Amino acid sequence: MNAATAVTLSRRIEDAEDVKRLIIEKLKYAVGKDPEHSVRQDWSAALILAVRDQLVDHWMASTRRAYEQDQKRVYYLSMEFLIGRLLKDTIINLGLEAPVREALTELGADYDEILRSEPDAALGNGGLGRLAACFLDSMSTLGIPAHGYGIRYENGLFRQSIHDGWQAEEPEDWLVTGHNWEFERPEVIYNIPFGGEVITTPEGKAVWHPAEVMLAAAYDTPIAGWRGRHVNTLRLWAGKPAKRVDLDRFNRGEYLSAMEAAVRAETVSRILYPDDTTEEGKNLRLRQEFFFTSASLQDLLRRYLSSHDDISKLPEKVAIQLNDTHPAIAVAELMRLLVDTHGLSMEVAFQLTRETLSYTNHTLMPEALERWSLQLFGSVLPRHLDIIRWIDEQHLRTAAAAKRTLDLERVRIVDHTNGQGVRMGHLAFVGSHRVNGVSALHADLMKQTVFQDLDSLYPSRILGVTNGVTPRRWLHSCNKPLSDLLIETIGEDWIGDLEAIEAVAPYAEDAAFRERFRAAKHENKCRLVAEIQSRVGIHVSPDAMFDVQIKRMHEYKRQLLNIMEAVAQYFAIRNDPAADWTPRVKIFGGKAAPGYEMAKLIIKLINDVARAVNSDPVIGDRLKIVFLPNYNVSTAERIIPAADLSEQISTAGMEASGTGNMKLALNGALTIGTLDGANVEICDRVGRENIHIFGLTAEDVANYRISGYDSRAVIDGNETLKTVLDAIGSGVFSPEDPNRFRAIVDRLSYDDYFFVTADFAAYLDEQRKVDRAFMDKEDWTRRTILNTARVGWFSADRAIRDYAREIWNVETPSAKEINQGGE
Ligand SMILES: *Cc1c(COP(=O)(O)O)cnc(C)c1O
Repeated sequence: MNAATAVTLSRRIEDAEDVKRLIIEKLKYAVGKDPEHSVRQDWSAALILAVRDQLVDHWMASTRRAYEQDQKRVYYLSMEFLIGRLLKDTIINLGLEAPVREALTELGADYDEILRSEPDAALGNGGLGRLAACFLDSMSTLGIPAHGYGIRYENGLFRQSIHDGWQAEEPEDWLVTGHNWEFERPEVIYNIPFGGEVITTPEGKAVWHPAEVMLAAAYDTPIAGWRGRHVNTLRLWAGKPAKRVDLDRFNRGEYLSAMEAAVRAETVSRILYPDDTTEEGKNLRLRQEFFFTSASLQDLLRRYLSSHDDISKLPEKVAIQLNDTHPAIAVAELMRLLVDTHGLSMEVAFQLTRETLSYTNHTLMPEALERWSLQLFGSVLPRHLDIIRWIDEQHLRTAAAAKRTLDLERVRIVDHTNGQGVRMGHLAFVGSHRVNGVSALHADLMKQTVFQDLDSLYPSRILGVTNGVTPRRWLHSCNKPLSDLLIETIGEDWIGDLEAIEAVAPYAEDAAFRERFRAAKHENKCRLVAEIQSRVGIHVSPDAMFDVQIKRMHEYKRQLLNIMEAVAQYFAIRNDPAADWTPRVKIFGGKAAPGYEMAKLIIKLINDVARAVNSDPVIGDRLKIVFLPNYNVSTAERIIPAADLSEQISTAGMEASGTGNMKLALNGALTIGTLDGANVEICDRVGRENIHIFGLTAEDVANYRISGYDSRAVIDGNETLKTVLDAIGSGVFSPEDPNRFRAIVDRLSYDDYFFVTADFAAYLDEQRKVDRAFMDKEDWTRRTILNTARVGWFSADRAIRDYAREIWNVETPSAKEINQGGE
């Protein structure tokens, strides 16, 4: 061992010559290609392998340090990690951009093209998955010894294309060209049991006899933070069969059924979010959740026990964060491992479990809080159902003693009312020592709504930790023009300590600086203009306002409200083309869940309206509408720096936090938004005069939900709204199928659950204020600079410090220490 570590292996990059040598070496000896005949994919693979080598020493040193200093470890369990591409950010974090660029130029390759040929790892769906990815970056930046644990989906979220205006879905095959970042760990394998029955021995011990056992195999991706000093691990699990082929069957000629067990096992890590409207789909989803949670807990217990012998000290050295309810089964699984494998009593196991786990809630929508039927749950995880019943009994006893007036049915984990099922939100809440919402408003609403009773039982358990985004990816790397300007003006402390960006605020009053800030925005817009032209063939002007709504397609996010405003504006321009219109390009991007018909119909509406507006010669540059297909991290990185206006218009009370809102404000876009999620805190920080707030508050919405809301009366009372809905409903935008959008208009007329009609008038008013504001270039730029300057608090580094202090009990270095460097 010592002899081996004493050998010096030099793969360190000091200059472009080193990069060239390493790339050629990788190309030949790892990729196996002759540099003369290598294609872009090969260069990309070679570069990734060369850069990955740079991480390895720091990675091993980070691990050694954690063991030597016996540091507390943080484990972040998440069904999604929306990491996107890693190459550019890793190069920048390591400070290697200049030598790599130079080397590639000398080798005759195009740096930007090679970066673009890395597949975008779409192992997530939206904000929740991107949050997990930003948190990995921040935990590495802050030097917290941490692992991300998730699933290595063979096919991540589907790839979206638009055919005749409709969304089409294709499998995302990001692994086809190989994931060059990862290290397969064939020796790290765990058994994952399913089904069967629990038998109680004469001594009263419960023994689980599973019907089947599959394997979880580990794949590790190193994650470097800013300056690359500390490197953490993203460990993703792939499903493998215990036995690849059933040889007896195979030899009998039953080739397909000989592979059946293998196919079943591999299905577990095949795709993200299988359609779970069928029983089979629900079964697979529950298996996926248990699969990665169990593998992760077995792995972290093994790591803990390799350097500790007292299992009862687990909470001192391990903190486990559950990202939403998907890994909530961890409560029962950790208990099972502690009791069945490590011989603890139920009481002790429960105490340790609770001290170790904490849970982040991401939604208050009842339909999104997971719940499994007892039938399904008992058939897949019979031992866990017993454990959960035990927890529930303890919990009810505490509840009954503490609050005589409480309706116990409402706080039970196992729901016995007509719905019957295991409430995973309740399980996660009861089994955790801290439960956090993702913005101040969201944490308040948790206490007032779905977790009201549980909050009254455990009053200090809920807290708010407002989300954040990593400034490395979401400004420094994706927006070079602005990043360069900031570094030249205020230095580069903000990259490792985003609150230092406040120093640019005084420059909002400096006309020369405003000119340069505008020039950076213009450069980003020109780049997006070219992309829009090449991807969807629409010509737009970089002088128009770029009005951006990019996020999952969902009725609560109200892309519908936005496109209805576009229709109203379209008619207004047609009526009076000569008036002084503020030119706009409305840019949409987002995927709809495959089974979500209404969201898919809204995509079609956007594209049908776009077709009419973009081809109308009367309109010209005054209004253009663009739907950019396949929204993902890489498209976000190109759209966000070019945005002037950020649409954050969810129904108040429904967006838990949002992080797109933070990225856009940071990149110098003004927000038009409701007082929802983190918009409330963004408003507080940028100042009410530097944001465009409109519409119902969460309280207004809650009151309407009680008193009733009459959308018919609102539609009848608003001529513009009526005209817009009549046009959409009667086929003005779909003459080939006039009834196409009837369902949308009916929904708004009779059951406007998301209050689109209620906010329509206020939204239009605010949009006209935005138009006027945009025309005053100097004042608009001044306000956008103040947005950039004042949103430093929304850094993922700040969020992680909050988790470390309030939830994990882990020390973090000060911002000064981060910037001064050192190991
Ligand atoms: C930031 C981000 C999101 C979250 O956007 P919201 O507007 O907060 O919903 C979703 N998808 C991608 C690719 C992102 O980068």
